Amino acid sequence: MTLKGKTAVITGSTSGIGLGIAHVLARSGASIVLNGFGDPSPAIASLEQLGVQVRHHPADLADAAQIEALLAFAEQAFGAVDILVNNAGIQHVAPVEHFPVDSWDKIIALNLSAVFHGTRLVLPGMRARNWGRIINIASVHGIVGSTGKSAYVAAKHGVIGLTKVVGLETAMSGVTCNALCPGWVLTPLVQQQIDARAATGIDPQQAQRDLLAEKQPSQAFVTPEHLGELVLFLCSEAGSQVRGAAWNVDGGWLAQ
Ligand code: NAD
Repeated sequence: MTLKGKTAVITGSTSGIGLGIAHVLARSGASIVLNGFGDPSPAIASLEQLGVQVRHHPADLADAAQIEALLAFAEQAFGAVDILVNNAGIQHVAPVEHFPVDSWDKIIALNLSAVFHGTRLVLPGMRARNWGRIINIASVHGIVGSTGKSAYVAAKHGVIGLTKVVGLETAMSGVTCNALCPGWVLTPLVQQQIDARAATGIDPQQAQRDLLAEKQPSQAFVTPEHLGELVLFLCSEAGSQVRGAAWNVDGGWLAQ
């Protein structure tokens, strides 16, 4: 399939899953708006090599006004936002009674409220064109819990609820809204958790094997490319009646 003429905004795409999704959409010809912290030059260069137009906007997605600025920037650059991948997310691990209040607020703002703001801002344009794809990168933690992750689990459950409502509210239109629920993907977000285990004296390779063995029956990581290909499917005609779904991509985590 081709996404030539379509514009995709992928939040939190200077690394990890977002960048992987950007690569798959760019290979299909979409113009790409990257967002995220850090130097975006390597990501921009790798995408431009695929022959597509790429822009980057450094909006802090924990701030609603900056989300508005990001989406206005994308519309100004390319005329429309056809595909919004709400991907930016952070993690903090601590027992609930010791969970820092500012970390709770930041995680809810970025992992949940940013999905609401992005959605409400792109929907009018998508409805006017009668085509759009909103794809929320939730998590297995949108369906089940794990200790130490109260804010993350609460936010991701919220994302799945929001996805269902938007899926219903757009059901009779050419706009769809769905969530992906990845298990472990080896990105900086998960590497931090492996490093925290290794800091207790465990060999880093063993820490990685332990992390997988506890939850993910395949004992293999999901990759950003796996998720990108699923996003591409949801953008296709064959995906047009997938609405309000929460799609596990988790090496069997949720089958247990
Ligand atoms: P990552 O840390 O590799 O990338 C996060 C991206 O978000 C980076 O580009 C970073 O610059 C950006 N970012 C961070 N704070 C931001 C902010 N305030 N505003 C804008 N951008 C910001 O993380 P990842 O593992 O690729 O995670 C991406 C998404 O996938 C997250 O929503 C995460 O919850 C979800 N997820 C990850 C895994 C996993 O195993 N890695 C599993 C399930 C779900």
